[in-house]
Amino acid sequence: MHPVWLLDLDNTLHDASSVVFPRINRAMTDFVVERLGIPEHQADELRKVYWQRYGATMLGLVRHHAIDAHEFLRATHPFPDLHRLIRRDQRLAHALRRLPGRKVLVTNAPANYARGVIKALGIGAFLDEVISIESMHFAGRFQPKPSRPMLRRLAARLRVPSSRCVLVEDSLENLRSAHRVGMRTVHVTGVAPRVAKVAWKARSASDRRVGLQVQSVTLLPRRRLRSVHRTP
Ligand SMILES: [Mg+2]
Repeated sequence: MHPVWLLDLDNTLHDASSVVFPRINRAMTDFVVERLGIPEHQADELRKVYWQRYGATMLGLVRHHAIDAHEFLRATHPFPDLHRLIRRDQRLAHALRRLPGRKVLVTNAPANYARGVIKALGIGAFLDEVISIESMHFAGRFQPKPSRPMLRRLAARLRVPSSRCVLVEDSLENLRSAHRVGMRTVHVTGVAPRVAKVAWKARSASDRRVGLQVQSVTLLPRRRLRSVHRTP
């Protein structure tokens, strides 16, 4: 039986670290400066602290500063020109088409932005569903990756056992959560050139919770998936 692929977006399907993330970070810092009335260096620090603590800056701002999530997401993903910033690689569409099984994009980014990136990458036809941060709201709060309850709910919603899902991600934190709920995992190491690849590779290679490691999703259909198919 084919797996259900849960594909992360940023730094998994495309390199977000060179242009896109710096712009989002800039917009988030500006938003925090304006709304909380604090100096830029403090706002920048707060943005990073919340991102590390909650997996998304938005969560900290909603929880501690009563910021409206949707307003924040709109203000911090200003990309009318995404198609110019994102490099389309035909090999990605080709790889997704060849990958057997359902493909679900699962991103902590907002839906508008995700749709823009998908369009710029030319991969919309190969995705069965897009799960953005807006749909990770339940029990009265946002619970994005690496939330384990969210991953369990996601598998239930897709009507498959967790063991049939494969999370494909650049974030080890998210992969560990997926492993804990019984999903299989693929660590994507090489999309973002600025990531310290050697250190990450060493860490994930020694991390038995990572089922398979690929430099790029374009290589996935060619890899023997035995290790991905193994029950963790
Ligand atoms: Mg990512």
